[in-house]
Amino acid sequence: MENIQGKVIAVTGASSGIGEAIARHLSGLGAKVVLGARRTDKLQRITDDIAEKGGVAAYRKLDVTQPDAMKAFVDFTVAEFGTIDVFVNNAGLMPLSMINSYKIGEWHKMIDVNIKGILHGIAATLPVFEQKDSGQFINITSVGDRWVGPTSTVYSATKFAVRAISEGLRQEVSENIRVTIVAPGATESELAETISDPALKKLAIEKFRTNLLPAEAIAKAVAYVVSQPGDVDVNELVVRPTAQK
Ligand code: NDP
Repeated sequence: MENIQGKVIAVTGASSGIGEAIARHLSGLGAKVVLGARRTDKLQRITDDIAEKGGVAAYRKLDVTQPDAMKAFVDFTVAEFGTIDVFVNNAGLMPLSMINSYKIGEWHKMIDVNIKGILHGIAATLPVFEQKDSGQFINITSVGDRWVGPTSTVYSATKFAVRAISEGLRQEVSENIRVTIVAPGATESELAETISDPALKKLAIEKFRTNLLPAEAIAKAVAYVVSQPGDVDVNELVVRPTAQK
């Protein structure tokens, strides 16, 4: 695939699911990948695997809710590989619940990771992009960035917010800095594990047990975005399993 070889791509939430698949797939296409998340044992295993396959990868512990940690992650990437070409804001949580369950702590966590985390990623990376007047943000939203249903109210609100942030960012920055949202439908990952209500978790897992997209399908969508020539900005990609209506 064109325009991927040698690019430096940083991915948040790369210890499982979609982020892991993005790191693995893009490294397989010749990118240098930097993985961030809190579970460093998993990051170590994934970067070892990538290296064994001849890829180039590094990792650093990252909690996206902490602006200083995000800045350190970006600084680490630049120190390790000289620059950043693509920043993938992927880390996210989805503890679904009805509003009248009053899981206020979980609402705060979703806002902290799904919204503030993305803003921290932008704040840490944009100066690098502006300095060289190029770069690409890829923000992973969800079909919930345009759809709301019972139990997804707060989750969808966070993803609507990321869609708004991405559109505003796209308009504000230089035309050489590109901004994309990739909105997955139901995809294989550990995401349902973040649902604390046992009945809801069972329901979500049962509902999506079949017809899930493999995480690699989203990684391939990200690769398509990265592979575009510098004057082509794919603004949005929505990728659903065919069975998801
Ligand atoms: P996973 O639960 O498998 O992955 C989530 C990732 O986010 C993990 O690597 C986790 O790493 C990381 N993460 C969570 N909190 C933090 C934090 N505070 N700091 C840093 N990293 C954090 O789920 P997915 O792969 O599915 O989720 C990836 C993205 O895709 C999310 O934004 C999600 O909303 C979105 N999405 C997923 C869909 C699906 O069906 N799977 C559908 C639509 C969107 P660690 O715990 O090690 O920190």
